[in-house]
Amino acid sequence: SGGPEDMPAEIWEKVKNHPCYSEEAHHHYARMHVAVAPACNIQCNYCNRKYDCANESRPGVVSERLTPEQASKKVLAVASTIPQMTVLGIAGPGDPLANPGKTFETFRLISEVAPDIKLCLSTNGLALPDWVDEIAKYKVDHVTITINMIDPEVGQHIYPWIFWENKRLQGYEAAKILTERQLLGLEMLTERGILAKINSVMIPGINDKHLVEVNKAVKSRGAFLHNIMPLISAPEHGTVFGLNGQRGPTAQELKALQDECEGDMNMMRHCRQCRADAVGLLGEDRSAEFTTDKIMAME
Ligand code: SF4
Ligand code: SF4
Repeated sequence: SGGPEDMPAEIWEKVKNHPCYSEEAHHHYARMHVAVAPACNIQCNYCNRKYDCANESRPGVVSERLTPEQASKKVLAVASTIPQMTVLGIAGPGDPLANPGKTFETFRLISEVAPDIKLCLSTNGLALPDWVDEIAKYKVDHVTITINMIDPEVGQHIYPWIFWENKRLQGYEAAKILTERQLLGLEMLTERGILAKINSVMIPGINDKHLVEVNKAVKSRGAFLHNIMPLISAPEHGTVFGLNGQRGPTAQELKALQDECEGDMNMMRHCRQCRADAVGLLGEDRSAEFTTDKIMAME
């Protein structure tokens, strides 16, 4: 996976310099995340809100939260130090689209000072249909949606609640709305030509068998990559799954599922589950060089 032979030419053109989508590019191009989005509108049983959003980030990490202005200064500071900086993502620490004011203000500021930097964001998808036009307006070309189920019977074991239209909803009803919104959001991105990657967290005994169905559903709606990640639920993280003794998949179980989905579409196997404030080439983390106090000192 991760090469031109796997993708239609027009998609390869768009992703070949993107460190997260091309296995080749991730050695040569750098990306950074800015943690400007603290709130979240759902609860996942594998997430402890003390840490960054576990959908896109390595569990147990707390990123430094920035205002949009601090984020834009940080992007300039990083871009002048790391010339391979090509991609700026917002992936937390909560859900970027549960913080639309901060997220889109950050994109607006960055597109003014650094118009060549590609923008991306990740989301749980609940609010996505409401923001697709705004996403298109800022020319965000890559969106990651975490989709762990397409069946609310499965979903009710993963999501204890969602916050939707000013109400907290639970159980089957919550999971049904979440899956409808995720798939609608994916279709709307595809209609507008915005690349959509899907993340799924593999949870043995809960959604492991079901993810083959998820893979078909997202492929048929135009997702160009599917990234199946292992549940990491160490008890010390204090997540519902961690406290209940829910285990993550073994490496063999993960590979078997990825192989089963492989015939259907591009699978992504090099994701490092980076921090929400990651900086640098994938596999290297230079976030400690770019804390707010250091950036302010550079001015
Ligand atoms: Fe890329 Fe995955 Fe890291 Fe995001 S978390 S920057 S998709 S490797
Ligand atoms: Fe945590 Fe992200 Fe799930 Fe929100 S969407 S509960 S921040 S893992």
